[in-house]
Amino acid sequence: MPYIKETEELFHQQLSSWEQAGNNYKALEGVVAKEIIVEGFPFKVQFNPARIVSSAAKVDTKSIQERKCFLCAANRPAVQRGVEYVFNGDVKNPYTILVNPFPIFPRHLTIPQIAHTDQKIFGRFGAMLDLAVNLEGYTLFYNGPKCGASAPDHFHFQAGNRGFLPIEEHQDSLGLEKLYRDGSTSLYAATKALNGLFVIESVIANEAETLMNTLYSLLEIKDGEVEPMLNILCWYDKNKWSIAIFIRSKHRPSHYFAEGDSNILISPASVDLGGVFITPLEKDFEKITSKEIREILAEICISFEETAILAKNITNKLER
Ligand SMILES: [Zn+2]
Repeated sequence: MPYIKETEELFHQQLSSWEQAGNNYKALEGVVAKEIIVEGFPFKVQFNPARIVSSAAKVDTKSIQERKCFLCAANRPAVQRGVEYVFNGDVKNPYTILVNPFPIFPRHLTIPQIAHTDQKIFGRFGAMLDLAVNLEGYTLFYNGPKCGASAPDHFHFQAGNRGFLPIEEHQDSLGLEKLYRDGSTSLYAATKALNGLFVIESVIANEAETLMNTLYSLLEIKDGEVEPMLNILCWYDKNKWSIAIFIRSKHRPSHYFAEGDSNILISPASVDLGGVFITPLEKDFEKITSKEIREILAEICISFEETAILAKNITNKLER
């Protein structure tokens, strides 16, 4: 795991030399959180004011074209350093492992490809699985361009230290239904708490990648969009990959746009779906209950009924 040590050194270096990052990580230690159980699944709600930059990010085409891309090396703060990561010998398309200066996790990374290229996961499942091995101890995640990525025009993964997201430890409350098993690779669909969730477990990267491709091939791409709406989380532990794929139906929930009392500034992405809801505003942190969390999940991911239909299509395709 060559990248763990280098990444840890990067954190020490950046937190001592980069004032904004250092301050934000220090502030994170004092961030308030509360637990809310939704159908047996323990969500954490985190009141995190610094995340307003991401939750309220303007990601429409015009706003994106008018701003300087903050993931391009030329526009990054001079103090920001990175660790280069090359997947599968592809030296022409390296990634950089960066410290995320607006953390949710005590260890939070952003891993952009160096080239300025669209946020699009297809063709990069292998890189995600490989990064999960190289960054064992972290959960890798991917937010689609309309599913929470605040830089939809520049490809990037993120990663946060494990032991933080409830989904890593609380899959027993999700009513996981086994859809398929081949050798060491299994596919499940959640029937409780988290609608739109598929889980893959595997000890063989190629098998996991093939299954991800099969699932991906059955998803609908909406008009004018570049890929199916999804969020993916992936971690590697005890020689096994766990991959959680959320199929989305909406970018931001109606609570985001609501006027008055029912307004909640939340722009859900992988971390929220993994069980940590981020509220940058205190009024929302105080107000949110299991009712609002359920409403938001019901809106932004496909329903349990749609999940069951998709599950059937997947098993049909796999058994053919
Ligand atoms: Zn860029």
